Amino acid sequence: MSRIVMKNPIVEMDGDEMTRTIWARLKEELLLPFIDLKTDYYDLGLRHRDETGDQVTVDAGEAIKRLHVGVKCATITPNEQRVAEYHLKKMWKSPNATIRAILDGTVFREPILVSCVKPVVRTWRKPIAIARHAYGDVYKAVEYRVPSAGKAELVFTGSSGDTFRKTIHDFEGAGVLQAMHNKDSSIKSFAHACFRYALSRKQDIWFSTKDTISKQYDQTFKNLFQRVYDTEYAEQFKEAGITYFYTLIDDAVARVIRSEGGFVWACKNYDGDVMSDMVSTAFGSLAMMTSVLVSPDGNFEFEAAHGTVTRHYYRHLKGEETSTNPIATIFAWSGALRKRGELDKHNALMSFADKLEAASLAVIERGIMTKDLALLCEDVKPEVVNTFAFISAIRATMSA
Ligand code: NAP
Ligand code: MG
Repeated sequence: MSRIVMKNPIVEMDGDEMTRTIWARLKEELLLPFIDLKTDYYDLGLRHRDETGDQVTVDAGEAIKRLHVGVKCATITPNEQRVAEYHLKKMWKSPNATIRAILDGTVFREPILVSCVKPVVRTWRKPIAIARHAYGDVYKAVEYRVPSAGKAELVFTGSSGDTFRKTIHDFEGAGVLQAMHNKDSSIKSFAHACFRYALSRKQDIWFSTKDTISKQYDQTFKNLFQRVYDTEYAEQFKEAGITYFYTLIDDAVARVIRSEGGFVWACKNYDGDVMSDMVSTAFGSLAMMTSVLVSPDGNFEFEAAHGTVTRHYYRHLKGEETSTNPIATIFAWSGALRKRGELDKHNALMSFADKLEAASLAVIERGIMTKDLALLCEDVKPEVVNTFAFISAIRATMSA
């Protein structure tokens, strides 16, 4: 069988622990036999990050800017325990945060559905992707306790020296205070990333805030989104047959629950944090959740939403069998290859991505699955297999 030849490489970022093991195996079994894989490889495994003073993470982020498509394995974000375990020179920052800062991106999370795992919400038939703004608001807020009676004011001093001043509250006793901010530039970036993602997925996009109550802050989000949409995306949306829809967050929540899914829900930072946990739990398993970082200038980084599955890895090291689900990691690869195919106008690569995803899901639909899914599975009687047997079953399906 002749292998597909790629036109341009994708940025490959290797990672840690169980997912690193899965990474190597799935390349060997599911990619290399079918594709003459061209990647620009960066080893983001914790040891190598430490050896390079974390330069490798920065280099990988820069490479994504150059090649526009990357795929990343889960990586350890070091804490004190990891510093001791790996004898690290330093408690390095989260690679995801470093890459996000380089790409100025927005993260979109989307569940992968299989028919035997039913969403908790009965009406949901298609995935709901959540786009979370990753800058500012309560995550960068300043706050303190007010000790006693007094007057609280919000003061802004402009660079030319003029000031704005507003009374927040005349405290008659103790209480709390908080001030938060956001920037037009960051909100506009977020809007661009959302509209581009909706176009790339050919899905409607909803955006919700509490603009009825927050008449300056949330209104700014609403207005900037509308302006970005009107000036740059309205035409393209019409051509793609998709819509942009703004509504109050209360209304959005009710509509999401009544919906059948199949759209992107853009949320402010806090709403996205909370709602993505709710939506992903209601769809099933963390192991079936993909994540893609999209930058406003059109760079894409694909990964699984879960971590390095440490508990399984320690068992694997002891020689015990593990049943870790590789689906989200496989879909990170298929997502990256499909995007590479789209950008390079390479149909064979796009079809390969479809085929890989279809084969992976077909194996589960036949009842062969990892333990996490077997616990959630309803209609079929599952046959639980280990990670490597599961990957081999996908390989067999692809070659059939
Ligand atoms: P985790 O790796 O996502 O695993 C948490 C638990 O979820 C696992 O112990 C397992 O539950 C279940 N799980 C997750 N993925 C699974 C899969 N593919 N198949 C089957 N079960 C799965 O989170 P963590 O244990 O909190 O973090 C481990 C390491 O990952 C940490 O060092 C953290 O820094 C890193 N991390 C990295 C990323 C990233 O790179 N994007 C994201 C999150 C965490 P059971 O043990 O009950 O089977
Ligand atoms: Mg959360």
